[in-house]
Amino acid sequence: MKGTSLRHHVMPSPNVEPRQKGKTARILLLHYTGMESAETACAWLCNPASKVSCHYLVDCDGRITQMVDEDLRAWHAGRSLWKGERDINSCSIGIEIHNPGHDRGYADFPEKQMAAVVALGRDIVARHAIRPEHVLAHSDVAPGRKIDPGEKFDWKRLHEQGLGHWVPPHRLGGGQFLQQGDSGEAVEALQAMLALYGYGIEITGAFGPETKSVVSAFQRHFRPVRIDGIADRSTIETLRHLLDALPEVAVAPT
Ligand SMILES: [Zn+2]
Repeated sequence: MKGTSLRHHVMPSPNVEPRQKGKTARILLLHYTGMESAETACAWLCNPASKVSCHYLVDCDGRITQMVDEDLRAWHAGRSLWKGERDINSCSIGIEIHNPGHDRGYADFPEKQMAAVVALGRDIVARHAIRPEHVLAHSDVAPGRKIDPGEKFDWKRLHEQGLGHWVPPHRLGGGQFLQQGDSGEAVEALQAMLALYGYGIEITGAFGPETKSVVSAFQRHFRPVRIDGIADRSTIETLRHLLDALPEVAVAPT
């Protein structure tokens, strides 16, 4: 099975197919399992009836299990969108990180598990030349539908260890904010900035439930101390810094 040279187990999933239209892995997508145990998750990901799979599963002890060949399309993203791309499964590698999830007493990610995720993620992005800003959460590509791996996942640590794109969140407090029900040019500018970063959001100038979901997804990844879907100054400044930190994309004028 084509994949990592790091020490790992293999448990092939039948839920695979070729990547569509010659697409290749450009995104590393991180999930949590949301199940009671890694064993249950593994069985589910190998069950043809589940119609789900991923390339790798990382359990709480940092044990890595490969389930799908990296050349093949695994079924982990579902209905999703990033930078205009809707077939995320065809252009990504998916890692399921075992965690019981928000419905089962969302747990901290143990040290051994985080170390394994970092090592595996670095190995994957190096071999596939995946850009730092293409290391994403499931919640980023499916806001409003998914919240994994969630706000306890340590994106700062990933970045410090050379994986993913991240800037220190701007401090809370002060300034004006935008929230559901608002409309106008400031909302349009916010939507344009989120779309420029990659989020699937329509630029309408009206702050509706969709915009709230995307702002929440952004906060869960980049400003996790407060996830309320309100674009306060801290949220907007963090987004602006993030766009500034992209090498080749200029920030849209506001
Ligand atoms: Zn997921």
